[in-house]
Amino acid sequence: MKITEVKVILTCPGRNFVFVKIMTDQLGLYGVGEGTLNGSETIVAEAIRHISHLLIGRDPQQIEDLWHLVYRQGYWRGGPIFMAALAAIDFALWDIKGKQANLPVYQLLGGKARDGVMCYSHASGRDAVECEDSARRLMERGFRVVRCQVGPYGGEGVLGQREPVTPGTPAELIYEPTPYLLSVPKLFAHLRDKLGMEIELFHDAHEQLNPIEAARLAKELEPYRLFFLEDPLMPEHRESWPLVRAASSTPLAIGEIFTSRWDCLPLFMNRWIDFIRIKPLHVGGLTEARKIMILAEPFNVRSAFHGAADIGPVAQAASFTLQSVIPNFGVQEWTRFPDQTYEVVSGICRMENGFAYPNEAPGFGVDVDEEKAAQYPYQRAFMPLVRRADGSMHVY
Ligand code: MG
Repeated sequence: MKITEVKVILTCPGRNFVFVKIMTDQLGLYGVGEGTLNGSETIVAEAIRHISHLLIGRDPQQIEDLWHLVYRQGYWRGGPIFMAALAAIDFALWDIKGKQANLPVYQLLGGKARDGVMCYSHASGRDAVECEDSARRLMERGFRVVRCQVGPYGGEGVLGQREPVTPGTPAELIYEPTPYLLSVPKLFAHLRDKLGMEIELFHDAHEQLNPIEAARLAKELEPYRLFFLEDPLMPEHRESWPLVRAASSTPLAIGEIFTSRWDCLPLFMNRWIDFIRIKPLHVGGLTEARKIMILAEPFNVRSAFHGAADIGPVAQAASFTLQSVIPNFGVQEWTRFPDQTYEVVSGICRMENGFAYPNEAPGFGVDVDEEKAAQYPYQRAFMPLVRRADGSMHVY
């Protein structure tokens, strides 16, 4: 079998996605992949186009060999752009493998270790009472784990926003840590008082704290028995994890912007974290994410895979597949895609009563309609910036 073409499909059905189709010389046999990287979609698309010249004529059945060929092709290994591009190719190769075997990919990995993948979703509101109402609605829909936030990205630390200097770019948020740090324990005191202790609740600090602030927040949240505290530190503050770890027994989670096993390993080996938030999409695909979860297992680190809406339907299917088969499963983030995405992509995985399921169709069971995708062209988009009240960039 030979690869004949790598198609890159950049589309914006409600939000931007980078999809690929790896075509083969076997009639009707192709694999679907995805390399979406929020705010950098065009750069990943160009990386895949460049790498595709190395793949034409090669055997798509040799996934491990092709993974290393793509990883090592440029001397400049790793990083978010190349690892997302590599994931797109890796997903498409696994999709081909499943279609060829006439089996869903989870069967190729040893079969399911659980009936369904327990998901969490996001409760939010302008204040604690609205957040409580939002959490109750999710609990009524079957969610057993709920992320709880108040206000915009940055919560009650957001004091306002500055209009962008350049038209068409996002407003810049004004953030101060003190009002944020004071508000979060109050939010969880309210939620535990109203919702009880049994529902699993947690909070995302969005990497906006310095180490001693993160340590204090983890300590002050301890009485509210969080499922975990997410992203208390920037990944760059790796050597400060012991400070946060020693401050409390609040479980800790990080990893949604990690791109390799090398980001994860020190945190595993030092037992600094409880949950790892990688997902196959940004660590080079299913092949590498599976290895990372095997590395995590002896260190009692469980999965809490990132699953925001920019982790598109193909990458989501790969996440649900891996989450179904690993023993050290923790939880899976779930968000609904925009309605237009369902017009362009078929086979989006099922989520019911707080549990998600990989498809039963061969491969990942997800496909992209190229004609419909072309009706939703890419829209330029950037991630938000955060400044302090004095106008300086918030550099934590
Ligand atoms: Mg996060």
